[in-house]
Amino acid sequence: MALSGGLRCCQRIFSWIPVVIITSVVLWSYYAYVFELCLFTLTNTLEKVAYLLVFHVCFVMFCWTYWKSIFTPPTPPCKKFQLSYTDKERYELEERPEVQKQILMDIAKRLPVFTRAASGAIRFCDRCQVIKPDRCHHCSVCETCVLKMDHHCPWVNNCVGFSNYKFFLLFLVYSMLYCVYIAATVFQYFIKFWVGELMNGPAKFHVLFLMFVALMFFVSLMFLFGYHCWLVSKNRSTLEAFSAPVFQGGPDRNGFNVGFRRNLQQVFGEEKRLWFIPVFTSLGDGHFFPMRSRNESRNPLLASEEQWEEEGGSDEETSGVQRDPSVTVEIES
Ligand SMILES: [Zn+2]
Ligand SMILES: [Zn+2]
Repeated sequence: MALSGGLRCCQRIFSWIPVVIITSVVLWSYYAYVFELCLFTLTNTLEKVAYLLVFHVCFVMFCWTYWKSIFTPPTPPCKKFQLSYTDKERYELEERPEVQKQILMDIAKRLPVFTRAASGAIRFCDRCQVIKPDRCHHCSVCETCVLKMDHHCPWVNNCVGFSNYKFFLLFLVYSMLYCVYIAATVFQYFIKFWVGELMNGPAKFHVLFLMFVALMFFVSLMFLFGYHCWLVSKNRSTLEAFSAPVFQGGPDRNGFNVGFRRNLQQVFGEEKRLWFIPVFTSLGDGHFFPMRSRNESRNPLLASEEQWEEEGGSDEETSGVQRDPSVTVEIES
C-alpha cells in the first residue's frame, strides 16, 4: 500500500518533467532574445523597442495559454451521471448481471446519452461508477472520467478535454507565432554572424540556437496544429479520430459533425472577438453535444429543459433527457 503510494508520488513528480523542459527552453529563449539579441546586439533604438514590444505580446499570450492548458482541471461528469447511493447499493448487492444491466438501463433512460459501447451497450465506467456522457472517456493517468476527452498530453501534464481544448489549441497557435516571430527577426542576425559581420561572442551562439530551436519547434507544432485544425473542422476528438463514436445505428465518424461553422463555434464560442483570448467560451456543458442526425426540434437541450426540473434536476446542469426504450446496457471494464 505504502509502496504503491510512493510509486504514485514518484510518477506524479516525473510527470512534470516535460513541462519543466518546455519552461526551461522558453525561459532561455526569453533571455537569449531580450538580452543577447535585443539589448546586447541591436544598435538601432527604434528597432530594439519594436522588436521587444511585439516579442512581449507573443510571449505573454504564449505563457497565458500554456498556463491555462496546464492548470485548467479536466471536468468529470456531473452528479446526474453518478449512481445514487441507493442505486449503487442495489447495483452492488445484485448478483445477476441482467438485473444489474436493468438497473443501469433505468438510470440511462433519464440521461441524454446517445453513444454506445462497441457492442451497442450503454457506456459505464466501473472505476468512477458513472454512466459515461457522450464523448466522455476514462483517463487512466488522471484516474477520472473526463468530459469530451481528447487526449492526455504529457507536454501540459494534463488531460485535454472539454474544459481546456480551446486553451490547448490557442497554446499551439501562440507557440507557433512565438517561434515564427523569433525565427523571422533573428534571421538577418543569424546571417550576419554567419558571414562575420558581427563580432564573435556568446551572443553568436545564442542567436544561432534561437534560430534552430525556433524552427525545430515550429515544424513539429505545425503538424500537430494542422491535425487539430482538421479535427475541429470535422468536430472530432483525437480519440474519436482513432475509434469512431458508436450510436444506436452503429459507428459514425461524423456523428457530431454539424457543419464547419457550427463545429468551430462548438469549441470557440459564438463571439468571434473572444476566439483568440484564452477564456472559456466553448458551447454547452460538456454532457450533451449537437448531433448531425438530430435536428434542432429534437435537440433534448431545447426540448426537455422542463423535464429536468420536473424530475428534480438541480440547477447546476442543463442537459436534456432522452427516453429510449431500445437501450441496452453493458459494463465497460
Ligand atoms: Zn472513469
Ligand atoms: Zn488525463
